[in-house]
Amino acid sequence: MLEDYYREEHDIFRESFRRFVAKEITPNVEQWEQDRAVPRELWVKMGNEGFLCPWLPEEYGGLGLGFEYSVIINEELVRGDGFGVGVPLHSDVATPYIYSYGVSEAKERWLRGCTSGEIIAAIGFTEPNAGSDLAAIKTKARREKDTYVINGQKTFITNGYFADLVIVAVKTDPGAGYKGVSLIVVEKDTPGFSRGRKLEKMGYHMQDTAELFFEDVRVPARHLLGEEGAGFKYMMEKLQQERLEVSIKCQVMAEECLGEALKYAKAREAFGKRIGDHQYNAFRLADMATEVQLGRTFLDCLISDHISGKRIDLKASMAKYWLGEMVNRIAYQAVQIHGGYGYMEEYRICRLYRDVRALSIFAGTSEIMKLIIGRKLGFSPG
Ligand SMILES: Cc1cc2nc3c(=O)[nH]c(=O)nc-3n(C[C@H](O)[C@H](O)[C@H](O)COP(=O)(O)OP(=O)(O)OC[C@H]3O[C@@H](n4cnc5c(N)ncnc54)[C@H](O)[C@@H]3O)c2cc1C
Repeated sequence: MLEDYYREEHDIFRESFRRFVAKEITPNVEQWEQDRAVPRELWVKMGNEGFLCPWLPEEYGGLGLGFEYSVIINEELVRGDGFGVGVPLHSDVATPYIYSYGVSEAKERWLRGCTSGEIIAAIGFTEPNAGSDLAAIKTKARREKDTYVINGQKTFITNGYFADLVIVAVKTDPGAGYKGVSLIVVEKDTPGFSRGRKLEKMGYHMQDTAELFFEDVRVPARHLLGEEGAGFKYMMEKLQQERLEVSIKCQVMAEECLGEALKYAKAREAFGKRIGDHQYNAFRLADMATEVQLGRTFLDCLISDHISGKRIDLKASMAKYWLGEMVNRIAYQAVQIHGGYGYMEEYRICRLYRDVRALSIFAGTSEIMKLIIGRKLGFSPG
């Protein structure tokens, strides 16, 4: 049970992060949405307070805390409208690649910056012609003595515009399919590395999402993570925590959408009674509340499995699929409960609706999750 992991110190941490979000993030959300960016100072402030990569050992500037603390940060960011702040991706998705597979020199060079907020990390896997099918990426890296020379292009990269380092999936052996995939870290000022425009998205407006270009980018061979050709295996390992991280977002956003719908259904009247007192809407809200509760129960069980070190491949795919779809259903119904006001920017549900749309797409689409689940059930879906 997840409750078994939470102690008084978790409550204190949650309270302190909640206060931070209320002071430093929530009041600025509107401005950052317009700016299409979160200022760098926020990263440094979060670093100063120990809110970046709190799981990293003290020798790298972290606090050596358990995954529960990453869960708390992720949850409270969403509750405080900071779901566009790319911190969970930085702390719990990108940085673990460096910690797990980087050589000691690489860890020394980057990890302290990742905890202090001086370094923002990103994951560069997707390409214009390869997203779900990552074995089909075309970006190449050829070894020349002590360097790799990278050529190619990435797209849709979260934190991509401001990232100081990007973990790039490349082909080191283009003829070897997924066995030819490697992961290499590219630093922002490396000659030949450039960023395209900040992409205009349907939602997540405060998050910088960008295209990245690599033209004869030379990086030292020590920037290779782990072994050449093992990149796909590393991705499959780390994608579990990424899917869990996105599942947490899905669940909390569903809870927030439900909260907004309940509030509105109690406040708004039509035909002489509260919106929620019309039987259709009471039943609709009952369905929504039930789905959200089911999601929470499943998610907490998954988080607790992950904390206890169990393999979560199957359940993480199920959670990413089901919660990603569930939050979209809940957001749709929550807007419907709001009527025309749900379509207006001054209502929080409007932004939530826009933002949840990406959740069934990134970190593996619902279809790909079903493919994985089908395979785990012993079938061979094409
Ligand atoms: C806001 C946002 C942020 C992102 N951040 C990052 C990031 O930081 N780093 C990164 O590397 N990527 C990132 N992505 C990319 C994301 O991971 C991909 O968009 C996603 O994996 C899908 O790939 P695709 O867009 O190429 O779609 P495609 O792979 O072209 O798929 C198109 C459609 O076909 C379906 N499909 C594909 N293959 C199959 C199949 N075998 N069976 C059935 N259906 C199939 C898909 O499910 C989808 O519905 C981000 C995307 C978004 C929208």
